[in-house]
Amino acid sequence: MSQERTDGDLRNTGLSLKHDREWDYELDRIVDAVNERDAETVGLQFPEGLKRRGPAVADDLRELLPENVQVMISGQPCYGACDLDTYMMRRTDVFVHFGHSPMKESEKIIYVPLFSNVDVFPIMEQAREEELAAPEADPDVGLVTTAQHMNKFDEMKTWLEERGYDVHTRKGDDRLTHEGQVLGCNYASADVDADQMLYVGGGKFHPLGLAMEHPEKNVVIADPVNNVVTVADTEKFMKQRYASVHKAMDAERWGVIFCTKIGQGRWDEAQEIVENNDNAYLITMDEVTPDRLTNFGMDAYVNTGCPRITTDDGPQFKQPMLTPQEYRIAIGEEDLDQLEFDTFHDTW
Ligand code: SF4
Repeated sequence: MSQERTDGDLRNTGLSLKHDREWDYELDRIVDAVNERDAETVGLQFPEGLKRRGPAVADDLRELLPENVQVMISGQPCYGACDLDTYMMRRTDVFVHFGHSPMKESEKIIYVPLFSNVDVFPIMEQAREEELAAPEADPDVGLVTTAQHMNKFDEMKTWLEERGYDVHTRKGDDRLTHEGQVLGCNYASADVDADQMLYVGGGKFHPLGLAMEHPEKNVVIADPVNNVVTVADTEKFMKQRYASVHKAMDAERWGVIFCTKIGQGRWDEAQEIVENNDNAYLITMDEVTPDRLTNFGMDAYVNTGCPRITTDDGPQFKQPMLTPQEYRIAIGEEDLDQLEFDTFHDTW
C-alpha cells in the first residue's frame, strides 16, 4: 500500500486548509469486511473535499483485495452522512462512506470517520487568553466540536478542566453520534447550562448556526484549521435572512423543495405548505442548485432539505430561497422577530 498516495493534505480540494492533514482510511477494516462478506463489489463514497483522493484509495484497496472484487467510486455530490449514495449502496456488497460519523448505523455501511490530526490545543490556548471569560469570572463553559475533531474531544475537555473550567457537554439527539458533536443542521449538543460555548473546529458556518440557535450564549470559535479565534457574530447573517424574507413577501408562486437525499427529507413540513397554499408546488430533487430551478420560474422557494442550502448558498439563487419558518414569516403567519435558525432533528 502506498501511504503517500492516500494520506495527504487537502489544501487544493476546496476546503482551503492551512495545515497539512493526514487521514487514516482504515483500509484494513474495509478489507476485513470484504473478506467476511465474500463481497464482489465495494462502493466508496467521499465528501467533496476528499473526492480527488478517491482514485488513490481505490488503487490501494485493489492491491489489498482479491482480483475479482470490483471497487467503484460514487460520483454523487456528498456533504454529510445524511447524503448516502443509496443507488450505489443497493448495488454493492460493501458500501464505505468516508468523512462523516454515522447518522444511522446499518450492517451494510462502513463509516470511516477520517479524524483530523491537527493539533487543537494551541488555538484553544489562544481562545482562552483572548475570548473566554476566566474561570474566576465564569467557570462554566460548554464544549462542542465537529466529527473531524471528535477523536480529541476527551482531551479537550480535560485540557479545559485542568485550567479551572467546569466543562458542560451533552450528546444531542438521534441525528448526532457523539457527545459534544454538532452538525451544520443540529446544535442539540449545545443545550447545556453555560453562558459561554467553545466551538473547536473549522469554518464559521457551524458556530454561526450555534449562535443563532442559542442567542443567549457567547460562542467562541477556536478554528485549528485556519488558525483563528473569533466570536460568532450573527448580525450580518440575520440581515441577509431578513432581506430574503422581505423580497419573498410579494411572491405569488412558490416552489416547495422536498429533498430526496436519504437524510434530508422533511415530507410533512413540505406537504403542509402545499396543502395550505394553492400557489405552492411541491418539487422533488436531490441536489438543489440554482440552475436546476431556473426553468421553473417561481417567484420564491422554500427549502425543506439541508438548511445549509438556504443559509449558506441562499444568495446564489436568483429568487429568494427560504427556510420553512421564513416562509411562514413571509406569508404573515409568524413575526420577523421570531426568526430562528433552521435545524433538523430526525434521521430516517
Ligand atoms: S442536512 Fe445537516 S448533516 Fe446533512 S449536509 Fe446539511 S448540515 Fe450537514
